[in-house]
Amino acid sequence: MLFEKYFGLEQKTIAIRGKRNDFRAQLNKNIMADVANKYSDNVGGKFYVDDQCIDCDLCRETAPANFKRNDDGGHSYVYKQAESPEEEALCQEAMDGCPVEAIGNDA
Ligand code: SF4
Repeated sequence: MLFEKYFGLEQKTIAIRGKRNDFRAQLNKNIMADVANKYSDNVGGKFYVDDQCIDCDLCRETAPANFKRNDDGGHSYVYKQAESPEEEALCQEAMDGCPVEAIGNDA
């Protein structure tokens, strides 16, 4: 009896986790940076910022050697691609931390 109750709960938990993961995958698909929507002031190369940027400043704080603010547009852009492993790591950190997934890596 107890085992069946536990097993039932276990099955429900697995089903809920599956739905949660599907939802997360859908969410990521919808908000992932899109190279088709990248700002034209991004310098050429793999990292870019697209038009979902909400100008929160996180990327400029995290990787100031690579991200700058477009003051007229009120958004960030990549003004220099990463040129060292350290800069690469910081750009990746900025990308991972961007709250709206506006930073893409087109590598
Ligand atoms: S972290 Fe993302 S939302 Fe914030 S300024 Fe940079 S690109 Fe824009």
